Parts: sequence; structure tokens; C-alpha cells
Amino acid sequence: MAAKKAKATNTVALSKDQFKDAIVKHLRSTCGTDEARANNQAWWKATCAAVNELVFERLTETSKANAEKDSRAVHYLSLEFLMGRLTVNNMHNVGVFGAARDALADLGKDVNDICDEEPDMALGNGGLGRLAACFIDSLATLNYPAVGYGIHYEHGLFRQEIQGGRQIERPDSWREYGNPWEICRPESIQEVPLYGYVETVFGEDGKMRKVWHAGRQIKGVPWDIPVVGYEAKTVNVLRLWESKAADFFDWDVFNAGGYIDSQSEKSQAEAVSKVLYPNDESEAGKELRLIQQYFFCACSLKDIIRRYKRNHSDFSQFSKQAVIQLNDTHPTVAIPELMRILIDEEGLVWDDAWAICKETFAYTNHTLLPEALEKWAVYLFEKVLPRHLEIIYEINRRFLEDEVEAKWPGNDEMKRHLSIIEEGETRMVRMAFLCVVTCFKTNGVAAMHSELVKEDLFPEFYELWPERFVNVTNGVTPRRWLLACNEQLANMYNETVGTDWPLKLDELKGAAKFADDAKFQKNFMAIKREKKVELADKIEELCGIKVSPDAMFNVLIKRLHEYKRQHLALLHILALYRRLLENPDYDMGPQVFIFGSKAAPGYKLAKDIIYAINKVADKVNNDPRIKDKLKVVFMPNYRVTLAEKLFPAGDVSLQISTAGYEASGTGNMKFALNGALTLGTMDGANVEIREEVGDENIFIFGMDCDEVKALKAAGYNPWDYYYGNPELKAVLDWLETDFFTPGAPGELASIKHSLLEGGDPYLVLADFESFTTQYTAVDVAYRDQKKWAKMAIINSASVGKFNSDRSIEDYVDRIWKLEKVMPN
Ligand SMILES: *Cc1c(COP(=O)(O)O)cnc(C)c1O
Repeated sequence: MAAKKAKATNTVALSKDQFKDAIVKHLRSTCGTDEARANNQAWWKATCAAVNELVFERLTETSKANAEKDSRAVHYLSLEFLMGRLTVNNMHNVGVFGAARDALADLGKDVNDICDEEPDMALGNGGLGRLAACFIDSLATLNYPAVGYGIHYEHGLFRQEIQGGRQIERPDSWREYGNPWEICRPESIQEVPLYGYVETVFGEDGKMRKVWHAGRQIKGVPWDIPVVGYEAKTVNVLRLWESKAADFFDWDVFNAGGYIDSQSEKSQAEAVSKVLYPNDESEAGKELRLIQQYFFCACSLKDIIRRYKRNHSDFSQFSKQAVIQLNDTHPTVAIPELMRILIDEEGLVWDDAWAICKETFAYTNHTLLPEALEKWAVYLFEKVLPRHLEIIYEINRRFLEDEVEAKWPGNDEMKRHLSIIEEGETRMVRMAFLCVVTCFKTNGVAAMHSELVKEDLFPEFYELWPERFVNVTNGVTPRRWLLACNEQLANMYNETVGTDWPLKLDELKGAAKFADDAKFQKNFMAIKREKKVELADKIEELCGIKVSPDAMFNVLIKRLHEYKRQHLALLHILALYRRLLENPDYDMGPQVFIFGSKAAPGYKLAKDIIYAINKVADKVNNDPRIKDKLKVVFMPNYRVTLAEKLFPAGDVSLQISTAGYEASGTGNMKFALNGALTLGTMDGANVEIREEVGDENIFIFGMDCDEVKALKAAGYNPWDYYYGNPELKAVLDWLETDFFTPGAPGELASIKHSLLEGGDPYLVLADFESFTTQYTAVDVAYRDQKKWAKMAIINSASVGKFNSDRSIEDYVDRIWKLEKVMPN
């Protein structure tokens, strides 16, 4: 009901003519130009300014309502927010997209050209950062009090160019010419101490206190990005911290004639928010990265406490008012920081401070990969955050001596095993352990993953505190991933099931009853074809490759990692190519394989896989013998904006990770929602997608998680598969020749070596045969277009569960316990 009312009061807030006037006004008053002289950049900024008239109004009303109600709020701490572009999304959410499009058309401008001026806000690597972006969208849409906290990176994830088939990284400058969505809030600047030493002092009361004498201060400047809920009742904020040199420091040095030093002070401070670390799955043990983590946690906690203190004079209500969600372990240092503030600055005793921390923090685990579990060297902590190390030691001491001792008396081996400090040549702080020991809830991100978190990752912690472990399956916002990116399908659903589905995605289910309807099928497939034509045009523009929209589009888009097994798809492509060469009549419908992926700059094998895909593509695409039956495309610079063109155009969604390694995946959800069929393993959320769409509407292949474990336990030998399958042997050997790299044999050999001598850690060879076999079934199914249409419709109509609104309601119910606040 509330949503309906919001529609009446807020969403048709501007007519086309009013919007036109607003754009023209802002061209002149905001951009300092006029209709005759303005370039597209100015038109875009003027359009944003017109939208912002509505957005800022709602932002103010929302913060007023939250302040008046003094309501409990969630603080979502994340080192990454992969926002993409905001203009189209915000226009849809405030309900002016149609008015804006028509107003711009009247002014002689195409809304798509204008919105193409916006750079992506790529302040994240992949799934984890995009999840944070979907979650803050849903929190605003559902009218929950929430603040997202992160870092205002000057450079987001690198821009990827492909030169000679290889990935080249270029800097990303998303705000070089200003960004109309962000508001600087100098009134909320924070100071952050670093380095130095800890002094023990005794007060007049004889009590011991710790004083941290910092060696350095940096300043955190907040930038607020409005987060517009659908129908724009609530506009929350994403607050991103920019690092600056603290003012007072420079001037002393400067006046003493040390201009160079003051400059280096300045650049060191500004380095903290300069770049996003591009490592997706393996952790960089870099001092600057630890400082980044502490910097944004310290700023955010000070901000949370400042707001709390407006209405409270002691900390007795703190954990009632604030819940802090840690998106992976990256913000873990917030835990000892809150302890430090409460004890050293606010004068609480340990037990009271600890009780507050235990009720305030909750932790989301995103991975089981051992190399991705964060650990920080003790010596680094000691240098950068000496007081925090003391606090971690004390948390650990109490945990081992009280809780572990009580559960496993006298078991020193267990204490060593569960200690937050890992002993060894270099002693390390295990950040995930600190999270689980402190947080009142630890959640995994899909049903299967949450089970593995309990059974494999933290079994002893689960034994200690079974009630702390919960699951919240990931989701994606249907506003961006259907409404805004697939207008055609969105309109078809509006006509079929009504217009409530962007809020209640389960209502798409109403379309499933037309899955057998010939006319509905025809319309559905016509839309898919239209999106494929749009993508084919983009492919020709970006890659110079012509693909037919009548071919089956197999799409594999995600960060490049061995566990995601892009090289399994590559081996499969080689097998198909070989079959076509050996038998020109080989029975297969025309196929296009489309990849999009960034590799971490230091991840050699991942970059080699990108190179191999491009080299194979060159050869296959230009081989007249196979008569265009197979095409391979690598689209450069995969990011949210490209993803919005790719998800609607996929026929087959490749989700082929080794079972047990992909925590959830969210790309799989975006594909199914847009009517692609999954060809995937029993991994992450694929398992739950299968439950929703039914076994007959998904193509599962390969080993499941138990089979993977059993094979590893029995001693996996990739050579058995190499010698056991002549086709597999042939394609692997092919990689060592110069067939794909004329005159340069061996350029693609690293892939083969990783899969044989390297031991094939992700069991690519073990799943190869099952993949190729199941692929044949997909090809056969696709050629029966009526059957395919039915399956595609059922997929799209059945994945309402994967709405991020549902994820948020699960978080609220199981962890956050929030109440909605309706702004006026
Ligand atoms: C959804 C999304 C991801 C996550 O994809 P997975 O297949 O779940 O790894 C990564 N990057 C972008 C740009 C996305 O939109």
C-alpha cells in the first residue's frame, strides 16, 4: 500500500515539459552553457541536475525522518561498491525515465547518447562489490534505514584494453571531469591516526589506561552518493571516504622550508584512497591495503558514533541503534577499533565494551578459497596499529582461556588450531577467526556455501556456537537487471503480470502459465533476438567480428579465475573446432561463444587464458572451412555497463566453476531472469536456481561437491584423463603447437602445463567429458525452438527468489532486526 501511495505522490513528479524546462535551466545555471553550445557531456550533467532536484529532496526527507525516529540502522561496511552508471537507474527509480527521454527527444537529443556520457563507477572488482550495490538499492527500496560505507577511490578498477590478444591495464578516471551524483560533506570530516606507540598511564584513581600516540594523522573527507529506492520514497546514502593530508601537519614543515617533505606527506596521505586493489580472490599483503581498511573503518565508526551521540549520552543503547555488517573480512579491523574507542576514549571497562561489540557486528563470508582468507602479519599490525594488536591479543587470550578451555579442557592443540594468531615463521592475524569469535552472526551467501562454511571452514566454531551461523542467499536488483537493461522484456511483463513485479519479483510466476502459448513464445523469443541483434552490433563495433543473431549465444562473463574455469570452456571450443575440421558435416547448430573478463594484473595464468581465448578466436573466426558455424568473441573491458548489454542477450549462461568453489554467483541469477538457460555445475546458487526452475529446465554437468572432495581425497591424477580421452589429449596438445600463434609455438602452453604438471587444482580435465556431452544436449534443445522458448520463459518467470529485496528481508529477519521508516 505504501508503495502505491509513493507512486501517486512522487513518481510522476515531472511532466515532459517540466523536465525540458529543468534541463534547459540547468544547462545555463549549472553548466554555464546553452542549448546551442552544449556538448553531450553538458547535456548529461544538466539532465542529472534535473533528476537531482527530485533526488535531493527525497534525500533530505529521508534523513529527517531517520533523525526524528532515531531508528535502528544497518551500516554496510564494504571495501567495494560496483555501482556502474547511475543516471538511467535513478531516472527509473524516481519515475521520470519516460519524461526525460521525451524531453531530450524534443530538445533534439537521444537519451541513450546522453547517458552514454557517464563513466562507470567501478569501485569494485566483481561479484562482491556488485552485491553491495544491489543491497543498498534494495535497502532504500524497502525503506530501511541504512548507510553504505566505503572508500572514495580516485581510480576504480582498471580499464582493460586488448592489444595483440593480451590484456593491457589502463587507469580508470571516473570523476576526472566531476560527477554530478556526489556531494562533498566537509562538515563531517574525520581524523585518523596511524603508526606510533602505546603508552601505559595510571590515572589519579590508580586505574591503568592505554594512550596511543600516533605517528601520523590523515584526514577522511566524506562524499555522499544518493541511493535512490524504487519509487523514490527513500533515498539513503552511500558515504565514501577520501583521504587527505591532515591540515596542521603540512604547514609546520612547509614554514620550516621543507616544501618537499610536506609534499611527500601529502602524497602519502592521498595514496590511501588512490586506487582499488584489483586482486579479486588472492590477498595482497600490502601495508597500504591494511591502512585503507583501517582508514575507512575508523572514519565510518566515528561517523556512526557521532550520529549516535546526538541522542544518547552513554553507550547503553548503542547496539540497539546500530548494527554493522562486515562485507567479507576486509573491514574486520572495525572490531578492535570499536573496542579501542569504547575503552580508551569512552572509559568503558573491557567486559562492557566487548558485550557491545558482540551485539553490533555481523560478518558475511564470501569464499572458502584458502588463499583468499585474509591474514595480516603481526609485525605489520604492530607497526601501523599497535594498540589494535594489543586488543586483538586480549580478545584472543580470553577466547582461548575461557571459551576454548571450557569446551576442550587441556587441549593445547585445539587452542593452537583456533587461535586468532597463527604461529609460524611469520606470525599472522587470522581476520576471519576474529570475525567469527566476535560477530553475533556469520552468514554464507548461498545454501550450499553456508553448509560448507559450517562443515569445512569453521567446524569447531560451529560446534561452539551453532546459533551464530545462518544463510542468506544472494540476490540481484530487478530494477537494474531487468527493468532498466531489458526494456522490451520489462514491457512484456507489464502487459502480462502487471507492473508490481519490480518490487515483487515472484509475480513473474504469472507468466509461466504462458510458457506453452505459441504467441507468447514468439514474442518472448523475438525480444531475445532483438537483444541479440543489439549485442551483435556492439560486438562488431568493439571487436570487428560479425556474429549472427540466429546462432546460439553462449556467454561466460565474470572475473577470470582458475576456479571459474574459463579454460574449461576454451578446451570445449577447441574440441568443437576440431570436430568441425575433421567432419565438415558435424551436426551442430551455429554457435557463438562470448567472453568478458578482467584478470588481476599479477595473475599470470589468468592473463594467459585471456590471450589464448583471443588467439583461438582469431583462428576460428577466420577459418573458412567451418563456414561460420563457430565464432569466438572476447569483449574488452567487462564492467557493469557492458554486463547490462550481455545478460539480456545470452541464450546459454555458462556457470562452470568446480563444485564447492563458487560461493554463490550472481551472474547466474541475472541470466536466468533475462531468459537464458544455465549450463552449469552443482555449485553456489546454481543449486537453488535448479530448485526454482526445475531439473528439466537447466543443464547440469560435472562432479558435485562430494564427488570433488572424494576425487581429491583419493588422489586426483589429471594424466589419467589426458590419456583416457583422445579428444582431450588432442586439444591439450594443440595448445603446445604454433597452430594458434604462428611462428611462436608454446605461447599457449602454460594452460596445458597447469592442467597436467601443475596438478589441475580445479579438476578441469575431470569435468571435460561431462561438459562436452551435456553441451550436445543443449545444442539439440536449442534447435527445437518451441521447446527452448518454453524453458527460457520458465527460467525467467521462476527466479523471483533471487531478488535482492528478498535477500535484504532475510538479513533483516535473521540478523539486522530493522524497522522500516517511511519518510514524508
Ligand atoms: C554480476 C556481476 C559480476 C558477478 O558475476 P559472477 O558470475 O557471479 O561472478 C561481476 N561483474 C559484474 C560487472 C557483474 O555485473
